[in-house]
Amino acid sequence: MRITGIADIVVPISSSIRNAYIDFSQMTASVVAIFTDVMREGRPVVGFGFNSNGRYAQQGLLRERFIPRLKSAKPEDIVDARGIIDPTKAWDAMMRNDEKPGGHGERSVAVGVLDMALWDAVAKAEGVPLWRLLADRYNGGRAEKTAWVYAAGGYYYPDKDIGGLQDEMKRYLDLGYSTVKMKIGGGELSADLKRIEAALKMVGGRGENLCVDVNGRYGLDAALACGDAIAPYGLRWYEESLDPLDYLLHAALATRYASPLATGENVFSMRDARNLIRHGGLRPDRDILQFDPVLSYGLVEYLRTLDMLQAYGWSRRRCVPHGGH
Ligand code: MG
Repeated sequence: MRITGIADIVVPISSSIRNAYIDFSQMTASVVAIFTDVMREGRPVVGFGFNSNGRYAQQGLLRERFIPRLKSAKPEDIVDARGIIDPTKAWDAMMRNDEKPGGHGERSVAVGVLDMALWDAVAKAEGVPLWRLLADRYNGGRAEKTAWVYAAGGYYYPDKDIGGLQDEMKRYLDLGYSTVKMKIGGGELSADLKRIEAALKMVGGRGENLCVDVNGRYGLDAALACGDAIAPYGLRWYEESLDPLDYLLHAALATRYASPLATGENVFSMRDARNLIRHGGLRPDRDILQFDPVLSYGLVEYLRTLDMLQAYGWSRRRCVPHGGH
């Protein structure tokens, strides 16, 4: 199995939504296609990858560093014993020589997009869905029959009032979701509390069916104040209230906010995830880890992260991978 070509484009995914930190008016994503010489049903296998919403397209990094390295790798150096592409070897080829440890920046997104396309190509070459391939290779063939999902929304929209927020939440519930998430931290806490109570009404007052997400906007004082205010609601989780890389502040918040905290979507490597686990004071019996595989070097690195978590006593069930919110 050989790579015969790699294409990448930048796709605009702009919208009028806003969270506590950014609007999405200029948002883009990278989409890549990895062409191979393996034929399935009369057509060459092509693997596709794209990055999730919230980080921009990575065309410069892709074209200057990672695509050329992948293309210049010797075909025999990035395949397994049967000649199928081995994403772990391809990952090593992309990161060879020049990529020093630490300071991950957003190269992790560029590598993650290519990693997604490689896994897609491998699963297609093997003729199985990717979940089956991963279950067979890494979980003794066992796979969950169901997956828990929730609807992430409740952004700050231009001119959207509380009624609009409730309408949006109702749409998610009508679609069959039982748990919804909304943005907070983009204005006064008193106004957000009114929004939260309005959303809570839509889920029958059941706090376990509502999550709130600050997108890293608060400092410690504001995070504690909000935590104290929302504690009586018993929310499903209180997400990214603090700067995602300030582990000491997370540890301080965890000493006071007893209900589940969630974070991790802006932690982009196994080593940074390990620092969060070591120093962030998070609690394996309740808190939620939201690492985003495609933003953080792809599945090859995510599998290392899962191994690391296990070594620190965390269950995979505490991981709810991020997909752009
Ligand atoms: Mg989030």
